[in-house]
Amino acid sequence: MDVADLVRPDVLSLEPLGGKVYSEVVKMDANENPYAWPQGMREELEGSLLQFNRYPDPNAGELKDAISEYSGVPADGILVGNGSDELIQMVLLTFGGEGKAVVVHPPTFGMYQAAARVTGTKALPVPLLNGLNLDVERILERAQAPEVSIIILCSPNNPTGTLFARADLLKIAAASGKIVVMDEAYAEFCGQSLVDEIANYPNLLVMRTFSKAFGLAGLRLGYLLGQAETISLINRVRQPYNVNSFSQKAGILALKYLDHYLEQIEALKRETEKIYRALTEIPVFKVYPTQSNFILFQPDDADVWHRELLERGFLVRHMGELPVLGKSLRLSPGLPEDNEAFIKAVWEIAMARKLVKLQAVR
Ligand code: PMP
Repeated sequence: MDVADLVRPDVLSLEPLGGKVYSEVVKMDANENPYAWPQGMREELEGSLLQFNRYPDPNAGELKDAISEYSGVPADGILVGNGSDELIQMVLLTFGGEGKAVVVHPPTFGMYQAAARVTGTKALPVPLLNGLNLDVERILERAQAPEVSIIILCSPNNPTGTLFARADLLKIAAASGKIVVMDEAYAEFCGQSLVDEIANYPNLLVMRTFSKAFGLAGLRLGYLLGQAETISLINRVRQPYNVNSFSQKAGILALKYLDHYLEQIEALKRETEKIYRALTEIPVFKVYPTQSNFILFQPDDADVWHRELLERGFLVRHMGELPVLGKSLRLSPGLPEDNEAFIKAVWEIAMARKLVKLQAVR
């Protein structure tokens, strides 16, 4: 018996997920927050008397109240997920599927297309202009196709770091007539959000995560904001206990310690800027301006640089061949002392590769 004969044909075309785990490296590959949780938060979390023999609150009521206070969106317009990855899948399960299509703007976050494949939704790519700018007219044009039910926008965009103009994003929400998912995973680093427009657009969904600015990537916690009716539709496809009780508590506490996180966010912005400036000093590098906590760049040879940095203990993300832009690397800052060491390693490699002159070394 061959079990492959029994599988859904579209599943056969998918790559199994997974990835190599590196130990003993400075992790700069996943846009995470490298800082420790704020003083006191860990103790509060560990000390909280959670009953792990009981199921979590299926409605995550207390967490939703905290998110409501933070975002200004009423609790019935909030859905929490096991990371925003799960929320992307839930949106596609609700509005996508067989015979439906989703518009995406590559180069962007890869999970949109992955979730489209898993849910049998067709992905319609509208590449960014020059690999960086939103092609608003083309997106609106493609979205007119009757099978399109969803448009996913990401700002600041992973992996380019680009922040799209608010007016352009709103134009798509206003004119498309489709579900518009605004992925704001990195909103805390740029200060721009469409959250305050939710009341005006029943088709607008804003997606956020605790994985980036709030440093809870390992606890898998994301949330979706929208009008109550839209959110309640998506709530129909949710697993009853999709967010565990520990993560619910961690999210509540993270928002309680917001002031501490705001300091970390400012520090991460400074560290990103420091690395950005250092990278732009290497003449052959193409470095893209960023509005987030990560930087996309193209060295003279991405494969060699990825390997050389890893040999020196720095893990950056090899993005492979990006649509329009080509082979690129992406990194997010580590702790300040690690970033200093990283910049030094970059100069050493650049010198060994004869990309900079000796006298240029600081
Ligand atoms: N959206 C974007 C743009 C991302 O970069 C990421 C993480 N890389 C996610 C969503 C997923 O975040 P999580 O599932 O950890 O909430």
